Amino acid sequence: MLLTITSTHQPASDLGYLLHKHPAKVQEFEISTGVAHVFYPEVSEQRCTICLLLDLDPVGLVRKSNGPRGNDFALEQYVNDRPYVASSFMSAAIAKAFSSAMNGRCKEKPELVAVPMPLEVEIAAIPVRGGEAVVKELFEPLGYEITLQRHPVDTAFPEWGESRYFTLRLKHTVTVQQLLSHLYILIPVCDNDKHYWVGQSEAEKLLEKGQDWLPAHPAREFITMRYLKNQRSLTSQVMEVLLKDEATVIDEEDEEKPEPEQKKRVHDLRLQTVRDELLNANAKTVVDLGCGEGKLLRLLQAEKQFEKILGMDVSYRALEIAKDKLKLDKQLVTPKQRIELIQGSLTYRDKRIEGFDAAALVEVIEHLDEPRLAALEKIVFKYAKPLDVIVTTPNAEYNKKFDTLPAGQMRHSDHRFEWTRAEFRQWGDRIAEQYNYEVVYKPVGEEDAEAGALTQMAVFTIKQRTVALNRFL
Ligand code: SAH
Repeated sequence: MLLTITSTHQPASDLGYLLHKHPAKVQEFEISTGVAHVFYPEVSEQRCTICLLLDLDPVGLVRKSNGPRGNDFALEQYVNDRPYVASSFMSAAIAKAFSSAMNGRCKEKPELVAVPMPLEVEIAAIPVRGGEAVVKELFEPLGYEITLQRHPVDTAFPEWGESRYFTLRLKHTVTVQQLLSHLYILIPVCDNDKHYWVGQSEAEKLLEKGQDWLPAHPAREFITMRYLKNQRSLTSQVMEVLLKDEATVIDEEDEEKPEPEQKKRVHDLRLQTVRDELLNANAKTVVDLGCGEGKLLRLLQAEKQFEKILGMDVSYRALEIAKDKLKLDKQLVTPKQRIELIQGSLTYRDKRIEGFDAAALVEVIEHLDEPRLAALEKIVFKYAKPLDVIVTTPNAEYNKKFDTLPAGQMRHSDHRFEWTRAEFRQWGDRIAEQYNYEVVYKPVGEEDAEAGALTQMAVFTIKQRTVALNRFL
């Protein structure tokens, strides 16, 4: 099975730097059921082609096929197309051989990572369920020029008709990283089969590798369905993340109704208070859940105490703004990033947010309706289980102090509820009890004798002291 990528960007041999593969070398990478060979059939300043040759071991395939999806594969075990066509094995090989390029790293020439270059791809044989129309639906919206050659079932018997195998050529001016992420996801989508069990981590990979283009792709649902092997719950989980972006991006500071001139001050104060709580908690690793445009992350970035900072949000657009504000693109060359952004939903279990010292949920819970809030509780307090969790939410009692806010109305158009102090306590006490945390409540901002403060905060600390003490080690 052959895949070639050709660059005509000048000098074309830069492709070697971008893919971290020296043009003069032939390299091999083990993948689960075979070997991927990488070499250059052509290298000049004008044109440079890299070839990924996948040599799958048919016997190895049989032995490996006893996983959860093993049996359907097992019957057609000894004679099948897998060793000869582009499929999810090819995606696995791309990820293995070109992992740095896929992650946007280029040691020698980092400035090349963001440069779109004229690239051509040839895939010698790819099975496509749905034929030409499907290939077009997948690649055309991304801007590719497509050439397809369909192969007959058997050249000796033309009457047997066409097969589902094509030679696919693609042309586009894109970055190498974009090209690889497109191929990684869309090759198995064409084929509509997978050599491994599809689970949560596949959903995460899809969101991660497709983050820059999948949300806006007109066939995103089809891609998601096929990539996740039609598993409904995983598909709807990913679709929720993808579709959320079409809703308004929520920025508390911009939309919050009360006293416009005070908004910024109030939100800054809230974020500083949360940062101080995280410092006091002695947290070294922090996840900001529903990080929005990354305002808290920016404050955390300035503190050396925080060794690892993760921002998660469901909104792709908000994350793009955060990426910009935090200047993450410019940090690509630093060996170890302290700060990372991921797209995900707090209503589904996600391993990437587990194992942190502390989590912050700043003005997030009120954006979730009841069933989703129940899911969030579990995800955060049962599964992610940080040692400390800081939650802030509006104090509804304070609303009457805003002249601009008609009685009974909420502060923000996307808020599903705003709680009184008693309601917040009731919720927090129940959570603490159920998941073994201690909780204290604190006002944020000036306190009115009757109405309390504008914002209310709960600081949860896990009860298992032995675990908690580890953070001081
Ligand atoms: N914490 C930020 C943003 C608050 S606005 C700040 O204080 O500035 C609420 C954020 O929660 C939005 O960015 C919204 O996209 C995010 N959000 C809403 N529902 C979510 C969900 N299910 N999973 C993850 N994030 C969510």
